Amino acid sequence: MKPLSPSSEAELAELVSSTSEPLRVMGGGTRPIGVPVNAQPLTTQKISGIALYEPGALTLVAKAGTTVAEIEKALAKENQRLAFEPMDHRGLLGTKGEPTIGGVFAANVSGPRRIQCGAARDFLLGVRFVDGQGQITRNGGRVMKNVTGYDIVKLMAGSYGTLGVLTEVALKVLPRSNVTGTLKLAGLTDVQAISALSAALGSPYEVTGAAHLPKGNDSTPQTFIRIEGFENSVKYRSGELFKMLGHLGEVKFELDQQANATLWQNIRDVDAFHGRDGDVWRLSVKPSDAPDIVAQVGPEDVVYDWGGGLIWLLMPQDTGAEVIRSAVADKGGHATLIRGNRAAGAFQPLSAPVAALQNGLRARFDPKGVLNPGLMGQAA
Ligand SMILES: Cc1cc2nc3c(=O)[nH]c(=O)nc-3n(C[C@H](O)[C@H](O)[C@H](O)COP(=O)(O)OP(=O)(O)OC[C@H]3O[C@@H](n4cnc5c(N)ncnc54)[C@H](O)[C@@H]3O)c2cc1C
Repeated sequence: MKPLSPSSEAELAELVSSTSEPLRVMGGGTRPIGVPVNAQPLTTQKISGIALYEPGALTLVAKAGTTVAEIEKALAKENQRLAFEPMDHRGLLGTKGEPTIGGVFAANVSGPRRIQCGAARDFLLGVRFVDGQGQITRNGGRVMKNVTGYDIVKLMAGSYGTLGVLTEVALKVLPRSNVTGTLKLAGLTDVQAISALSAALGSPYEVTGAAHLPKGNDSTPQTFIRIEGFENSVKYRSGELFKMLGHLGEVKFELDQQANATLWQNIRDVDAFHGRDGDVWRLSVKPSDAPDIVAQVGPEDVVYDWGGGLIWLLMPQDTGAEVIRSAVADKGGHATLIRGNRAAGAFQPLSAPVAALQNGLRARFDPKGVLNPGLMGQAA
């Protein structure tokens, strides 16, 4: 079905207010996360463009359909960046098209640096959106100190277009770091690696990336700790971390900037699973629980990010959800089926009170039930 593609917020509002048919809301269509929605597609791609960029104030306002690439290019010119380094899902999900900034915030997509600087939602200052009745709402602002309507701004991040169609986002940006260095530890078990990453993250050396690949280079375990900043500071902090962790075995230090960029992009986008069959699960857990959970489910491959707080699992196709859910149930955490048969539910089942809250919000924002209906639904 050809997507509806309004070219302005007013046109979008008119379209939503006059419909009673469900809509499948998309940006660039690169992140089909959640239960597939069988409805008329609607894309925000034509509602695009950077409306305002004030490098001195570290703020940028962009229409929702603006591509992430366009935003990153504009920021790079001023030596700034999206500090939460949003992952690109295309390699993992086999999707085409261009990721949009609206899609990034709708799915609260954050990368390895989240452990240090926060998630996408922490950088969202304000939003404009069209709710399920076609009403245009503006919330928050573009000034960091302005906390008006803060809660609705946060609510929109991670709501996957089920509460409103984002039309514009105001965000905080940050300067790029001068130099990146990565400590690489080889041959650690998962338990040793998570403990080393926790020690590094708990140190005063401002680690901005902490990942472990049990099947890294040559299928041998590789553990990575990223440090960013001025060159002398990076060298000093990595030296101190080496003193802390050197007893664990071979440690190398990568200071080549291109190699660092590629390495962390690969971790961010879960390159290890690209082009491989099987279901992909994403788990959010307490890092110290991560190795046990992984051992219990026995995946074909695994990528630990956020010091073990984020686990990517590659499972045989059609592995039952109960296998994963029972492993996280006792420990607490979230498991999302990112790739695979999601018809019966993709997100972590919510407790009854949280589900009631979520349903109440949805009934308020989208009483006709036209925005991505069922996408965040769960198996009974
Ligand atoms: C660095 C870091 C710091 C943290 N600090 C805190 C903290 O201070 N306090 C705290 O309480 N928690 C904290 N957490 C835990 C975190 O808030 C929980 O894991 C929470 O589930 C994250 O939700 P998220 O929206 O950021 O989504 P993600 O981490 O991107 O996803 C978590 C899971 O929730 C699902 N999900 C996201 N949004 C929704 C939704 N609207 N409805 C249903 N499911 C959804 C996702 O699909 C996924 O399965 C932290 C996590 C990290 C990595």
